[in-house]
Amino acid sequence: MKPYPFKYVRAEGLAAVFQQFEEHGDDAQVLAGGQSLMPVLNMRLSAPRVLVDINRIEELRGIALDGGEVRIGALTRHREVLESEVVRTHLPLLAEAMPHVAHVAVRNRGTLGGSLALADPAAEMPACAVALGATLVLRSAAGERTVAAEDFYQGLYETERRPDEVLTEARYPIAGPGYHGAFQEFARRQGDFAVVGVAARGRVESGVLSELRLVYFGCEGHARLARQTALAAEAGGRPYTPQVFAALKDALAEELDPMENMHGSRATKLHMAQTLTGRALQALLARAGGAVHG
Ligand SMILES: Cc1cc2nc3c(=O)[nH]c(=O)nc-3n(C[C@H](O)[C@H](O)[C@H](O)COP(=O)(O)OP(=O)(O)OC[C@H]3O[C@@H](n4cnc5c(N)ncnc54)[C@H](O)[C@@H]3O)c2cc1C
Repeated sequence: MKPYPFKYVRAEGLAAVFQQFEEHGDDAQVLAGGQSLMPVLNMRLSAPRVLVDINRIEELRGIALDGGEVRIGALTRHREVLESEVVRTHLPLLAEAMPHVAHVAVRNRGTLGGSLALADPAAEMPACAVALGATLVLRSAAGERTVAAEDFYQGLYETERRPDEVLTEARYPIAGPGYHGAFQEFARRQGDFAVVGVAARGRVESGVLSELRLVYFGCEGHARLARQTALAAEAGGRPYTPQVFAALKDALAEELDPMENMHGSRATKLHMAQTLTGRALQALLARAGGAVHG
């Protein structure tokens, strides 16, 4: 199938993007890597009248260490994130998750900003952004604002981004000593969207787990921070004991409401989420140098 006709505009700067937004409102849509947008257009599931290509806007590109944070431009390709030494050193959770995003060909074109802005419920990058406490930067003709990733995701493909805003950057705080992450996902084939996954980050000091963030994807309409389950895991101090793991599973059953779809029922997905949580916590504690058998 071919897309409905649209006008193509190659923007050389953000001002040109804002101009298109002003002229066409909701009818203008940003084109980044096109790895999600083009299939949707080809299937005629969406029909914007104007596509604004942002691929030439250099200021949206790059990975930089800036004080206590890593700043990644929205137009940075998945592959660049995967190969970045800065990301490997300071955001190991992101480095661990990125190989699960699609295949090499898609990662060569797809962008971090595209993934964060699209908000696919099964996508890895939004969940990592929430787990890592990232801040997303949005710019419009009226100026710039920042939104915490955990507030950005509102519903199924619904975000805090207004139609006249471009996502320009994600800022990830660099965690101090004692913080560790772990990533687990189940997908039918390597590179497929996750059926269920979890991104975890927490602090371990003297064997005691705190500040745990557990973020689930492929479950609800958007990346889901499970606060009560994290508290249940922390309460035991040693989340790998059978008692703590049972409490954690109960808390997750209360807190998480996975959507049934062609990949599985609610019960199957919940079971997967519980199992993956156990694995993620074991990995996190092992990285912290703790024993993993209670
Ligand atoms: C075969 C295949 C497998 C895939 N598997 C996975 C997977 O396992 N996990 C995963 O997470 N993704 C997967 N993807 C999607 C891929 O990661 C995309 O690259 C990503 O979702 C969108 O990035 P993009 O740069 O291609 O965005 P585009 O397709 O260009 O745009 C996507 C949407 O975001 C908007 N947008 C893009 N950039 C911005 C911006 N800076 N500001 C505002 N709005 C913006 C666009 O207007 C559009 O609505 C897969 C894609 C394919 C084709």
